[in-house]
Amino acid sequence: MNPWHAHYDQGVPKEAPKARPLPELLRENAARYPKKVALEFLGRSLTYEALWREAEAFAKGLQEAGLPRGARVAIMLPNSPQFVIAFYGALLGGYVAVNTNPMYTPRELRHQLLDSGAEALVILDQLLPRYQEIALEAPLKLLVRTGIQDYLPFPKNLLYPFLQKRKGAWPKTLMGVPWRAFLRPGRPSPVALDLDDLALLQYTGGTTGVAKGAMLTHRNLASNALQVRAWIPDFREGEEVVLGAIPFFHVYGMTVAMNLALLGGAKLVLLPRPEIGPIVEAIEKHKVTLFPGVPTLYVAFNNFPGIEGRNLRSVRACISGSAPLPLEVAERFEKLTGAKLVEGYGLTEASPVTHCNPLYGKRKLGSVGLPFPGVEAKVVDEEGKEVPFGEVGELIVKGPNVMKGYWNRPDETSRALKDGWLFTGDLARMDEEGYFYIVDRKKDMIIAGGYNIYPREVEEVLYQHPAVQEAAVVGVPDPYRGETVAAFLVLKPEYQGKVTEKDLEAFCRENLAAYKVPRIIRFRESLPKSSVGKVLKRELTKEVGARG
Ligand code: AMP
Repeated sequence: MNPWHAHYDQGVPKEAPKARPLPELLRENAARYPKKVALEFLGRSLTYEALWREAEAFAKGLQEAGLPRGARVAIMLPNSPQFVIAFYGALLGGYVAVNTNPMYTPRELRHQLLDSGAEALVILDQLLPRYQEIALEAPLKLLVRTGIQDYLPFPKNLLYPFLQKRKGAWPKTLMGVPWRAFLRPGRPSPVALDLDDLALLQYTGGTTGVAKGAMLTHRNLASNALQVRAWIPDFREGEEVVLGAIPFFHVYGMTVAMNLALLGGAKLVLLPRPEIGPIVEAIEKHKVTLFPGVPTLYVAFNNFPGIEGRNLRSVRACISGSAPLPLEVAERFEKLTGAKLVEGYGLTEASPVTHCNPLYGKRKLGSVGLPFPGVEAKVVDEEGKEVPFGEVGELIVKGPNVMKGYWNRPDETSRALKDGWLFTGDLARMDEEGYFYIVDRKKDMIIAGGYNIYPREVEEVLYQHPAVQEAAVVGVPDPYRGETVAAFLVLKPEYQGKVTEKDLEAFCRENLAAYKVPRIIRFRESLPKSSVGKVLKRELTKEVGARG
């Protein structure tokens, strides 16, 4: 029935691991490994016991602020102890976390707060001006602010804001409750958590131009972290050191780095930004064993000056996801570190990983590997019928990690989920051994540097510019970012010669997170269209690809 099971590594179970609500799993580890380091952050460590106490204090703070059960708590933080504490604390208190990208502009933040109906926001001091700009349109019951200094030792914690002020990198007014004043040491009121309770709203781009919240439950998130753990046959419970460099505000980083580490009693080394210098230092200093990443990160790592001479041998296993991993990148990385680096596949709606190549078994070039234990996968035609081996169709998946639906969007939910099968919007084929290959995307999406960009959202921003008559946004190949964003524009006659590419880029920068801003902007007399007037995006992509 499932041809892929025959190819699992020895030791990888065939069934999905049994999930439990996330805070329960963390509580157990706090009891099992009280004195083991859970988090390592810029020279400061927190034991499992200390992390649990902080999560309890955060949960209690939310409860005492009067938030009703199930209220949404948005988190706009880089990887940091505060991120972990706010996430587990919110869940422990019976709330739903809303991951919010710290790169969001005020416009994007407003959409997410309003759409999720968030009642609370936990935000980094430096990001406060973004909320301030929209505070009247998106009012909150509770605003908690925090900064790196909250987890720096004395006297660095006092000096940090002072130094930031001198650099001009500190907001003029600080609204909200400071982190330390917000935490309420002690036990929060116990909340009975069900596996199917909502744990996280993870926003993902939409074909309708606005991001929508994938509803991920405790079962979804815990299952996926445990599936990843099961996939690593030599995972050493309580002994691993996991690099937390990829952002946790995306569910990929959350599952494959944060939750994998904390549910497995590992030490999680937190890096606020995925920069190679600090990554290499962290590997050497903390003897990192598991290094999850995205292709762009491994490319940068491979090309880091002096990388050959560094001590990277502690790294054992790495899973790369979010975009295709070129073979030469994997090979060079494996040579440098002696580790295994395998490509996986997933999507937000599946919490996110559904497929991966075996770490020690048979890997196949260009393939995203086999479905995870407990994941069923099929390739189907337009009618939803399974196609024969080797034929291309849409990839659909089912499993304990598949979302409940989209928040407040029943129509989109019924398009994406049918009888428990998630329609991925990716075109794939399966070979006779059950290995899957992603061939193309059915959905209109660009992946640049591991981030997803929905052309429709960028086009809608461009259309808000008074000079723009027509806009088409496409992804074009880029040697470093995988793809990059290109915009083709027809200007209104009265603006021709008066508005430059730079003006439009600046306009995008004000309204879109930096990674979504087109790097290539071209003005055209007209856009190529089909007989029914649909813009022929593939022609535009080819044009830029050909001219470089
Ligand atoms: P996200 O929802 O942000 O996790 O993005 C999910 C999408 O990323 C998938 O639907 C795919 O289109 C793409 N993707 C993820 N992993 C891979 C991979 N290994 N190869 C090709 N595309 C991928």
